[in-house]
Amino acid sequence: MENHRKTGSVHDAGNTKYAAPRKKDSGSGAGWLDYLADHAIVPGMLLFSRFGYDLSRRFWTEPIGTLYGRNVVLTGGTSGIGKAAALMLAEKKAFLTIVARNEKKAQQVQQEIMEKTGNPHVDYLLADLSLMQDIKQVAKQLRDSKKSIDILINNAGALFNERKETSEGFEQTFATDLLGVFYLTELLKKTLARSPGARIINVASGGMYTQKIAVHDLENKQELYNGSKAYARAKRGVVMLTRIWADQLHKDGIRVHAMHPGWVDTPGIKRALPEFHALVNKLLRTPDQGADTIVWLALSKKAGQSTGRFWLDRRPHETVVFPGTAASDKERQALWHKLQGLISSLP
Ligand code: NAD
Repeated sequence: MENHRKTGSVHDAGNTKYAAPRKKDSGSGAGWLDYLADHAIVPGMLLFSRFGYDLSRRFWTEPIGTLYGRNVVLTGGTSGIGKAAALMLAEKKAFLTIVARNEKKAQQVQQEIMEKTGNPHVDYLLADLSLMQDIKQVAKQLRDSKKSIDILINNAGALFNERKETSEGFEQTFATDLLGVFYLTELLKKTLARSPGARIINVASGGMYTQKIAVHDLENKQELYNGSKAYARAKRGVVMLTRIWADQLHKDGIRVHAMHPGWVDTPGIKRALPEFHALVNKLLRTPDQGADTIVWLALSKKAGQSTGRFWLDRRPHETVVFPGTAASDKERQALWHKLQGLISSLP
């Protein structure tokens, strides 16, 4: 598909400097927990479990305020981590718009959140975020509404064990987990720029540590398809975009974060990785624990003072730990230009 598609006009990535990750911004936090998480494989991975969450939370001291009057757009808020985040954001008094695929589910979740939190400002819009036409339409609805957007949370995502293409001809992992995130964010960034202190929060995955981006094969065609690998590469792409957007949008006052929720017991993980789920389910975090850093990134003063980082349990972490998984500046530029090319050739 990639080869047949017209590349269209490729916008230059503006004034972005595709600098190699700056140590002070992209590295892990200074503590021993951060070092373990990033450098010692077995104990590090245990920090992805609920024990990691329990250990990390002992060090949290920052008081958390509310989000009263802040408009938050959250994708994938009807299940798992997204639903937990939606409830927590509503408890913090955010004015919430959930972007969901299934209207019945969206209505049920909207009702449940309003009843549980007493927050009447919970809305939803419908879109299949693997389809660029749906994304275009939902972005237009959001832009045309009178509401500002203060926080965009790109949470919707999935791991697909089978290679399939969407009705628009994009490979579904790439479409859902990378191109869709790119397109929605690009379509909303001007709206976000009008809100002082706006934030973008991208839900990535620790799975991305295992893979380098494959810019020459974003749609996973050239090798035997492997769902976990395709997912990890897409999430790696999202973490790369986070840094690029952080540089580009800094002048507009937008802070951009990527985060890793840890290993979380959700319908999504059970469906995609049933064996892994059965093996480690006692270690998995609750959806609330997985969502904690999303909500913290939306609220925290400290998070508002930095941009372009990758967070786990309210701490910044390195984005590259295995040799050979770092992207060069050329690959970063190539990723940006390919994604831009694809969206600018959309009807
Ligand atoms: P989940 O399947 O329980 O929830 C995913 C949500 O995204 C659902 O509401 C689903 O409807 C929505 N979604 C998926 N594809 C969509 C589409 N095409 N259009 C619209 N909505 C769509 O999964 P989860 O585990 O809660 O995952 C949430 C996020 O966390 C994902 O981005 C996932 O990759 C990431 N993540 C999860 C884990 C984990 O351990 N569960 C670990 C790392 C990262």
